[in-house]
Amino acid sequence: MDTIQITLPDGAKRQVPSGTTPAEIAQQISPGLAREALVARISPSNGGAAAGPAADGELVDLRRPLDHDVRLAILTPKDPDAIQVLRHSAAHLLAAAVLDLFPDVKLGIGPPIEHGFFYEFLREQPFTPEDLERIEKKMHELAAQDIPNERKFLPKPEALELYRKWNQGFKCELVEEKAIEPLVSFYTTGKFIDFCRGPHIPSTGRIKAFKLMNVAGAYWKGQEGNPQMQRIYAACFYTQAELDDYLHKLEEAKRRDHRRLGPELGLFSIEEAAGPGLIFWHPKGGLVRKLMEDWLRDELLRRGYDLDFTPHIMRLDLWRTSGHTNFYRDSMFGPVEVEKDDYQLKPMNCPGHILIYKSRLRSYRELPIRLAELGTVYRYERSGVLHGLLRVRGFTQDDAHIFCMPSQIEAEVEACVDFAFAVMKTFGFSDYVVELSDWDAAHPENYAGSKDDWARATRALETTLARMNVPFKRMEGEAAFYGPKIDIKLIDAIGRPWQLTTVQFDFNLPGRFGLEYVGEDGARHQPLMVHRALWGSVERFFGILIEHYAGAFPAWLAPVQAEILPVSGKFSEYGKKVAAELGAAGFRAHLDDRNEKLQAKIRDAQMQKVPYMLIVGGKEAEAGTVSVRHHSKGDLGPRPLAEFLTDLGKEVSLRSS
Ligand SMILES: [Zn+2]
Ligand SMILES: [Zn+2]
Repeated sequence: MDTIQITLPDGAKRQVPSGTTPAEIAQQISPGLAREALVARISPSNGGAAAGPAADGELVDLRRPLDHDVRLAILTPKDPDAIQVLRHSAAHLLAAAVLDLFPDVKLGIGPPIEHGFFYEFLREQPFTPEDLERIEKKMHELAAQDIPNERKFLPKPEALELYRKWNQGFKCELVEEKAIEPLVSFYTTGKFIDFCRGPHIPSTGRIKAFKLMNVAGAYWKGQEGNPQMQRIYAACFYTQAELDDYLHKLEEAKRRDHRRLGPELGLFSIEEAAGPGLIFWHPKGGLVRKLMEDWLRDELLRRGYDLDFTPHIMRLDLWRTSGHTNFYRDSMFGPVEVEKDDYQLKPMNCPGHILIYKSRLRSYRELPIRLAELGTVYRYERSGVLHGLLRVRGFTQDDAHIFCMPSQIEAEVEACVDFAFAVMKTFGFSDYVVELSDWDAAHPENYAGSKDDWARATRALETTLARMNVPFKRMEGEAAFYGPKIDIKLIDAIGRPWQLTTVQFDFNLPGRFGLEYVGEDGARHQPLMVHRALWGSVERFFGILIEHYAGAFPAWLAPVQAEILPVSGKFSEYGKKVAAELGAAGFRAHLDDRNEKLQAKIRDAQMQKVPYMLIVGGKEAEAGTVSVRHHSKGDLGPRPLAEFLTDLGKEVSLRSS
């Protein structure tokens, strides 16, 4: 019998008879590994150090006989690639269960997806929630039987015959189109058989933690006009704890969804009559926006920016000069004709700021010039990608452009990163990820700017981040054609990352617009230009804040800071007095003097996520106190009104969250 050589990930080599399976090798290594093993990865064995990284290679069944020298890794739940194999096998299990209960369904496809899998079926009646329950139960039954997933091969004509007899038209189509080898690969799970390249986990016993989530319609092959399939979607993990954690996060995300909270809390709406992707800020949202913008404008001035305002519509020619009519055309609204001249709704603020810079000759003494604008822009986003406040067609960027000399760029980058950190701290975020995007050095012809420009700017970004002790990830080849950048992603209260701050060099626009300054040497030079946005846009950041706080804004941002709740109509007068004192002290208070039970009023204030409820009755009126209830901390007991005012003042001025 032939002997083959197996190279393990640690470099160890084993001589085994040809035909040995990964499962057998796992067993030789250790029974524990054999128990944990799900699938194997093989790659060509080209000997020692020259071999590629371990993650390259092909995933194969543990039962696949090996017949030549290979590098072999046995994958367990610890390997990130293994989960998709488990999910794919779970999709087969779903199809097996559905066929068991509904033998007449026609099978479509069933791939693994992020967090789980789906399988699609053609069936006249829609699957009901009760059907899903039965299917899930059947899946658990079949899983518990630990049925092997076995690979079989059939000649293509036999494969087609099998599906024709079974009346599975979609599968016939797939075999016709996808089976390229003369032998067609199938997998069986008990009675269920599926045209499938695999690989799969050895048997169904390891599929334990899954949940059928929902049914969604989808055209066969995603093409309109094709039959409408029913896709059963499922979440699937190794353990119940992981599944529970995922389901909990989903619940949390739903609870925090800004698209629901926005209208519920009177913050914003999107009005179909006005068009999709356009935001209406309602009074309470408008108030939060004012507070956000006040903070930002004060910080901008404190940090040496100048505020400017530029028009929303400008000559189309300006966008030809900037190049946007070429590389950005698809994201722009169409031009508007005015007196035989074409005008363009602005998709960016940069050309406007450039015109201000260019309005007169600049001297090196003026640099850096930092022009900031809460600039409203309009972009044509396809209706399919619009999403609440996060993807819209009209929005206000917290935009700034910095024009500086090469010697100034490190200090400017540092100031931008410092400003971004101030935003995070102020708005209650502590976790973040930083990415530095560089060019693809092998293709300088695809980029604006010289090799020197790129090297200097990238070095400035790198050394600044290093000096500030900010860890970052380098993204080679990820930069835009016009310059390197750093991106900061926030991690919110439930661990989701949100792209926010960008600090972006531009080697393109200064040349296109012929920007200059007079240097110390009396000669004309071209300034460096940096685009930077901290929030990205007011709308997007507001959406993120709503989700981060689950609508319960900290006192400094809350549209109503205190709701005053008289226990009955008799104490309205004292309630009015408390409200007036809060108002006079500069707080946002609201008196709920509706003729409702106290419990109902508390519930409503709680629903509106007002930070403080001040309950007033006879005792309070007599003593000049308020009974304080906090939205999340609950009952805080009676307090003298003056003391409450002092404490609220402190909380607001510290912007505690
Ligand atoms: Zn499959
Ligand atoms: Zn810009």
